[in-house]
Amino acid sequence: MTLVDIEVGLQRRELDLRDVAESAAKSLEDAPAREIIRWAVATFGDRLCLTSSMSDALLIDLVSRIKPGIDVLFIDTGYHFAETIGTRDAVRQVYDVNVIDVKPSRTVAEQDRDLGPRLFGRNPDLCCYLRKVEPLNRALEPYLAWISGIRRDESPTRSDIKVVEWDAKRQMVKINPIARWTQEDVDNYIADNGVLVNPLHYDNYPSIGCAPCTRRVLDGADPRSGRWAGTGKTECGIHL
Ligand code: SF4
Repeated sequence: MTLVDIEVGLQRRELDLRDVAESAAKSLEDAPAREIIRWAVATFGDRLCLTSSMSDALLIDLVSRIKPGIDVLFIDTGYHFAETIGTRDAVRQVYDVNVIDVKPSRTVAEQDRDLGPRLFGRNPDLCCYLRKVEPLNRALEPYLAWISGIRRDESPTRSDIKVVEWDAKRQMVKINPIARWTQEDVDNYIADNGVLVNPLHYDNYPSIGCAPCTRRVLDGADPRSGRWAGTGKTECGIHL
């Protein structure tokens, strides 16, 4: 059992996090994204954060309207496109959020020195573990719950995600408020709300990761087909 003591507002509560996640998964399955986020904020208070790859600021826009000042974890792998770093900087200026740069324990130069250059080409799973998964696990430790922007329609590996899940690996609650959204829902929200978007989207990069592992895709192709193209790898490991 994962019992935690949490103070939200003026109330002190003891929660079994796994029970909380499993019960919310059922009760919120059909709820709109804003209602799911409101529940998360009411339940976890300041022990809640969200993660962003700075592909766009949709989730940041949605969440910051409900919890201004929330911590946003951005994994600064050292391999990002300049446009992604620019989007992060613009987010800091435009939205009422606290963007935290999450750094790997080694710089790219130190990794090249210790493990040889271009690890991403020889062992992308290890590279992703060292530059994304491990740093994020460390950064998530102070929180009880995290909000992610993954969706069921993005890939077969994400087709059965729940709107609220028990993240057993990290012993915390994971909230996916836009899990049920389609690409059309995303496009409409961005257009209707003037959401900041990474400019690479307008240059045939519908899914944006590290520069060495992300390619342009042809119109109409699977949006994630430009990620680790030709390697068979489809996920960095954060969401597995
Ligand atoms: S996406 Fe590529 S460069 Fe980035 S951490 Fe993974 S393997 Fe390394």
